[in-house]
Amino acid sequence: MTDTASQTSPANSPLIGIFGGTFDPVHQGHLACARYVLEHCALDQLQFMPCHLPPHRASPGVSAAHRANMVELAIAGEPSMQLQPLELDRSSPSYTADSLALLKQAMPDCTLAFVIGMDSLSYLKQWYQWQTILRLSHLIVCQRPGYTSNEGDCPALLAGFGADISALRRRPHGNIVVLDNPDFAASATAIRAALANQQQNISTLAPSVLNYIQQHRLYQS
Ligand code: ATP
Repeated sequence: MTDTASQTSPANSPLIGIFGGTFDPVHQGHLACARYVLEHCALDQLQFMPCHLPPHRASPGVSAAHRANMVELAIAGEPSMQLQPLELDRSSPSYTADSLALLKQAMPDCTLAFVIGMDSLSYLKQWYQWQTILRLSHLIVCQRPGYTSNEGDCPALLAGFGADISALRRRPHGNIVVLDNPDFAASATAIRAALANQQQNISTLAPSVLNYIQQHRLYQS
């Protein structure tokens, strides 16, 4: 891993962020991270990649098509953000390592950086072929309220692969970059609970996403 991580990446390779998640639903915490990552890591593009079936957790509350539609609504007007539909049509669990391999094949001249929250980094070693993820991409980790880099897998991973932002452009893959983004307390679990309780005003959802949820009567108990 470290041998390949030391390879030099052409400084002018496009740097593409891939933000994977269930997005059940996409919320303002995701968007705040996405904006921060784009700006502070100087990405050329950030692609939201909703999974079809998450491998590490319960099945999503609504269909992949609805979750993708909500992502499209949330990122409308954000020219550097796109929907990456790769995982949507799969009937098997969406393994990040497999998806990144396909994306790397499709974009061989790009440097990929997979974006996650600190909660996800804390159990990265349970992910299917987590070492492969670092052979194909960097990891960009956003702070998330309630989670620190002292927990779970974080200390060992950061000791082995941690680097500063400049590594994203200097190396082709293999580093973990932790950002200093301000906390944004939003969670899809809390939003689903609020919607099931008939709450009408949910400030952690983009208005267009809340409208969509109400129009399609999603997340009602
Ligand atoms: P749930 O509450 O059901 O766990 P979630 O809000 O974590 O859902 P996901 O779609 O699972 O939403 O998240 C996708 C990625 O975004 C994950 O890597 C997660 O760590 C990160 N993330 C989600 N919310 C935040 C937030 N408020 N701040 C930072 N990262 C976040």
